[in-house]
Amino acid sequence: MTADADREGGRLPRVTVLGAGPAGIAAAYALTKGKAKVEVLERAPVAGGNSTSFQIDGIWCDYGSHRFHPVADENVLADVKALLGDDLLLQPRHGRIRLGGRWIHFPLKLQDALLKLPPAFAASLIGDMALKKFRKKSSGPRSFSSVLYDGLGPTISENFYFPYVRKLWGLDPDKLAVTLAERRVSGSSIGKILGKMLRMIPGLRGETTGRFYYPKKGFGQISNTMVSAAEGQGAAFRFGANIVRIEREGNRVTGVVTKDGDTETRHEPDQVYSTIPLTTVVKLMDPPPPPEVIMAAEAIRFRGMILVYLILETDRFTEYDAHYFPELSIPISRMSEPKNYNSATGPKGRTILCAELPCDPGEKWWDMSDDELGKHYCEWLGNLGLPVKVPVIRTETRRIAHAYPVYDLDYQRHFETVDNWLSSLDGFLSFGRQGLFAHDNTHHAFAMAYAASDVLTAEGGIDRARWAEHRHEFESHRVED
Ligand SMILES: Cc1cc2nc3c(=O)[nH]c(=O)nc-3n(C[C@H](O)[C@H](O)[C@H](O)COP(=O)(O)OP(=O)(O)OC[C@H]3O[C@@H](n4cnc5c(N)ncnc54)[C@H](O)[C@@H]3O)c2cc1C
Repeated sequence: MTADADREGGRLPRVTVLGAGPAGIAAAYALTKGKAKVEVLERAPVAGGNSTSFQIDGIWCDYGSHRFHPVADENVLADVKALLGDDLLLQPRHGRIRLGGRWIHFPLKLQDALLKLPPAFAASLIGDMALKKFRKKSSGPRSFSSVLYDGLGPTISENFYFPYVRKLWGLDPDKLAVTLAERRVSGSSIGKILGKMLRMIPGLRGETTGRFYYPKKGFGQISNTMVSAAEGQGAAFRFGANIVRIEREGNRVTGVVTKDGDTETRHEPDQVYSTIPLTTVVKLMDPPPPPEVIMAAEAIRFRGMILVYLILETDRFTEYDAHYFPELSIPISRMSEPKNYNSATGPKGRTILCAELPCDPGEKWWDMSDDELGKHYCEWLGNLGLPVKVPVIRTETRRIAHAYPVYDLDYQRHFETVDNWLSSLDGFLSFGRQGLFAHDNTHHAFAMAYAASDVLTAEGGIDRARWAEHRHEFESHRVED
């Protein structure tokens, strides 16, 4: 039945959602509360996208450290709490960061920073603060490095942020756009960082300061629970979907075609809500977009990541949830011990260390075997004074191609070319981390999805003016680590 015939029967608008990561799932959940009839097409066999979880030897693991941050929009947080109930734990953050060759508690605590920061490092920081007014502002075009240098000074920029972004994005900080500093660096001056540390002091801190929400069965339980709720409201999830075309006539998207073996199925909704990478959408469009849009999409890059899971024969490796490694001497950016996220409810005699190794297909780590990566991993930890002295049972890996959007100096104009063209299409809305090329958290993906539901009209159209307002709100999203 076509969408027009459906509406004539007085039925709800129909929406086909592409992707069942948090954005796609939350859209299905919000839309099926009486706004639309929804089907979700997901390529993977499971829900959750980069926020999914899976078990290794009975231990729930995520794609790298994932926490649900209490700063989430109140409607989003209320829904997650209601859906998860007692399965949502409020956990204290207990991590460590490697700075100047020493371990400092992360999130930073004033007393710990005072006692443990190398004296020369602390003196430089104080000097940066005192001399900020007199420091010469960077000249030339603004970039990630100039904004950080001017705001935070050389000590923290050169010892923490610059090596960290080099590792995460594989680019020098002066080749990265200002947007990255705006989205990613919440402490934009040493005064603000000190303010954050003060708010960590018992007595001054709020109920959720220095804490995070985490479900008993891994971060992916949030997505899975929301899928069940959306299904209960009538949403249909099709996993393993092979989308071969997004069809359009002029500037109207008319359908999505999936293929199973030799059989093609045409999905004809009022709206296609896409949360898959915008670069993939450009490739799937039939007929293809204008050449300048194709060229712009080809210039947009995502950073990949290998997650290396070292499976150890011991109850626990450390007491910490995560270790952060800004220093370039170790290629991984962060290591998490999944058991420490849900209060070590996993089996005895086993723990897992998950390393986040930023890396693109074609780089040397990408094609390395699990065993080789495991050996390097143990070596890196040994060099940092964390030797693996217990038996390594085996190493497993997962590879994700779309871990982070790359905000290089040219990204804005390429993104705008693609975004403007996609936004000009009727019957189509792109959002989520991959759909808006946004370096966002899960709660931001949920907020975008709720906004996408908000703008669907009863006739199956999009309130574009309202969507523009929401897009403006999304600009204020700040990444929490
Ligand atoms: C290492 C790492 C750590 C992170 N830590 C945190 C954290 O602590 N807290 C937090 O809130 N967030 C964290 N995030 C961010 C979080 O993972 C994302 O914000 C969230 O997953 C975004 O949801 P999304 O639905 O927009 O995109 P995704 O999760 O990427 O989902 C997109 C979906 O589209 C599907 N898809 C892609 N192509 C196709 C296709 N052709 N056809 C059909 N389906 C397709 C994918 O399979 C996927 O399911 C982290 C991310 C990374 C990489």
